[in-house]
Amino acid sequence: MLLGPYPIERATGAGKRIGVFVLCSDGTSPRYVGRSDRDIGHEIRRVGHVFPEIRDFLFEITDSAEDAFKLECRLWHEIRPPLRRTHPVAPAPSESRCPLNGCAGH
Ligand SMILES: [Zn+2]
Repeated sequence: MLLGPYPIERATGAGKRIGVFVLCSDGTSPRYVGRSDRDIGHEIRRVGHVFPEIRDFLFEITDSAEDAFKLECRLWHEIRPPLRRTHPVAPAPSESRCPLNGCAGH
C-alpha cells in the first residue's frame, strides 16, 4: 500500500531502499510515477527537483526490483502520469514483462 502523501522536502525520509513512488502537484493530483532499485529517497528528491510543480510524494517499499517494476507498471497504467509518458522499463538484466494483459511494455 502506498504511504503518504508527504511533503517533497521529506523525500530522503523514504530511505535507501527499493520501491515505487508517485509524485503529486498536491496531495491528490498524481503527476509522475517512478521507481528506484537502490535508493528511493534519493530518486524522489532528484525527480522532484526536475519538476518544480511537484509538492508531495507517496511511496511503497518492495522486496525486490522485480516487484517494484510490476507495481510501477500497474500504477503507471492506472494513473497515466502526465509528467511520465513513457512506459516503465524493467530492471536490467531481467526479462520481466509488464503484468497487464495485452501490454507490449517491458
Ligand atoms: Zn504495460
